Amino acid sequence: MKGVVVEQTGGPEVLQFRTSQPVPTPQAGQLLVRNNLAGVNYIDTYFRTGLYASPKPEVLGREGAGTVTAVGDGTSGFTVGDRVAWMGTGGYAEYTAVPAAKTVKIPDGVSDEDVLAAFLSGMTVLTLAKETYPVQKGDWVLLHAAAGGAGFLMTQVLKIMGAKVIGTAGGPEKCALVKSLGADVVIDYRSEEGKDWVKLVKEATGGRGVDVVFDSVGKDTWEGSLEAVKRKGTIIWFGNASGPVPPIALPLLSPKCVKIARPQLFGYIETREEFEYYFNELLSLLQSGQLKVKVHKVYPLEQVAQAHIDLEGRKTTGKLLLKP
Ligand code: NDP
Repeated sequence: MKGVVVEQTGGPEVLQFRTSQPVPTPQAGQLLVRNNLAGVNYIDTYFRTGLYASPKPEVLGREGAGTVTAVGDGTSGFTVGDRVAWMGTGGYAEYTAVPAAKTVKIPDGVSDEDVLAAFLSGMTVLTLAKETYPVQKGDWVLLHAAAGGAGFLMTQVLKIMGAKVIGTAGGPEKCALVKSLGADVVIDYRSEEGKDWVKLVKEATGGRGVDVVFDSVGKDTWEGSLEAVKRKGTIIWFGNASGPVPPIALPLLSPKCVKIARPQLFGYIETREEFEYYFNELLSLLQSGQLKVKVHKVYPLEQVAQAHIDLEGRKTTGKLLLKP
């Protein structure tokens, strides 16, 4: 089968496209899925570079959508031919052996593309806004990288929840996109004026600062996020697009009694009940038309290196998908 293998950590050039990978055999608790599409997430770049440790050689890719072609022992509720979306590992391939416990059937009338454009990213957004910091109507929220895969969905979810959203993004086109999603204030943090985004956030909130910051940019923004949050506010660091947040001296939090969190999606969807709860929430937002998805591009699997180059080069908006 076709697949992309990483033998050692490095730049996009370590993504090796191959046409003679063995088709995996589903083990107990697994399903074999023929992927119609696979998602590209920023986390894939962390495993590629070695920022996050994982055994190599490795087939990257944490989610996909396609058709069940075989079922392993000890699985129930799935049969060959089911159209499904899954979370696991090994998505950059024609076939993936996936955990049945992290697989859901895609209902008729919903496309693979729509589900996958919102699946891992959308469930992340819902867990952050409902559990890490339960967003309240009227909250001022600062969201960095608001035009990205997760950001595009999060801007909408925050507006649905009644928040006042300040979105940052790099460049006028991305900012126009964020504005079109209903963000109240949009800051181009790469422009001359927007470089001082902390000042602009303070101005927008009458000097008070925001109730909560959702920061997935990390290294370049963490200090500003700490300045932009209000007294008794919350900062959620959930990604490292510019590099990880360095170890923080806890006394930095004292003057404003700031709360911080560093969550990850999989900690919120460990049980089947939690996984299904968030998937159903997501599905109802998609099916009701409240949540729109945006696919930046569907890349042929052999162009996966270009997908990583575009993502890390800040050239994309919305979700990147691969077509095996
Ligand atoms: P995005 O599509 O959002 O791409 C990342 C964006 O970050 C870029 O488009 C860019 O937007 C911005 N950015 C800022 N600084 C840099 C930089 N130095 N280099 C590259 N990009 C930069 O990716 P995803 O939607 O896949 O993921 C978004 C974030 O959410 C990531 O940090 C990811 O790790 C995190 N995440 C965390 C999860 C969790 O469970 N904790 C789960 C899912 C995602 P701009 O040009 O507008 O600045």
